[in-house]
Amino acid sequence: MRVLIALGGNAMTSDDGRARPGDQIAAVAAAMEPVADLVAAGYDVVLTHGNGPQVGNLLVKNELAASVVPPVPLDWCGAQTQGTIGFIVVNALERALAARGVRRRVAAVVTRTLVDAADPGFARPTKPIGRYLPHDEATALIDHGETWEDRGPRGWRRVVASPEPLDVLDAPAAAALLAAGFVVVANGGGGIPVVREPDGAIRGVEAVIDKDLGAALLGRALGAEALVIATDVDGAVLGFGTPEARPLDTVDVATLRGYAAEGHFASGSMGPKVEAACRFVEQGGRRAVITSLARIADAVRADAGGAGTTVLPADITREVAGHA
Ligand code: ADP
Ligand code: MG
Repeated sequence: MRVLIALGGNAMTSDDGRARPGDQIAAVAAAMEPVADLVAAGYDVVLTHGNGPQVGNLLVKNELAASVVPPVPLDWCGAQTQGTIGFIVVNALERALAARGVRRRVAAVVTRTLVDAADPGFARPTKPIGRYLPHDEATALIDHGETWEDRGPRGWRRVVASPEPLDVLDAPAAAALLAAGFVVVANGGGGIPVVREPDGAIRGVEAVIDKDLGAALLGRALGAEALVIATDVDGAVLGFGTPEARPLDTVDVATLRGYAAEGHFASGSMGPKVEAACRFVEQGGRRAVITSLARIADAVRADAGGAGTTVLPADITREVAGHA
């Protein structure tokens, strides 16, 4: 069974949120333990990962060093973080596999994801990235063509386009590596956002892609049967943060879409995970699970409802209910 596992930011930072190189290496090493267990158990695993904090750090370097070295665009930041995160994931997973006597190689693919140059996100950017700055510093960057928003007491923050991912252009490379027996890391940070020019040329764009939506697209492109979105909470919660909070366990996709429409899932965090889970299942995936990093093995191995929030196509949910 092929499983796509999407690792959230907490798989790459220490528990207190620090992200020095040593913190990231240690967090990834811990995250690779259950992943290696799954590979050892015979699952065909594909990994993807977020890159928000890492891109945030690159943006700070860009700003502070702008008078010395030329700042690089966001698509380059995406490519760079796929490289560094891919590198530490490959090291950690190969080591965890070797410790289990599993002779599998791991490879990371620099992955481009196509977006539409006419995506409404480019005209009206909404995704906040990087650090907060005082108004005068933000103004200087606005003069350079960036969009910054007044976010209240914390200061101003840059907003960029977060266009819909349409096609994972390098999915065939990932598929070829999988067929050759590699465990594959691909589409980190949702993929490097690119557009196709009228003459067919591929060009990177100033944007970020949601990693969960990118994961759903990659999962379908590779024919994964399950999508596991690993984050820092046990699953999706109705009435999150209210006295009526109620964790969701097994839910069919139509019911989950209904809850989403009622506004239960915050747009910058749980919302895209729920949307990704729904799309994956609607487009032919058998199961999507939103759960904590510690429970990914349960999420994959157990029958429906094993861990966190399990999203199923409507017909299978009836089947499960019938067996209960
Ligand atoms: P990741 O780095 O894994 O993508 P995010 O911070 O983007 O993590 O999303 C996970 C966060 O979503 C949780 O820590 C939680 O605070 C938040 N969240 C918002 N709404 C909900 C909800 N309805 N149920 C559960 N978590 C929610
Ligand atoms: Mg997130």
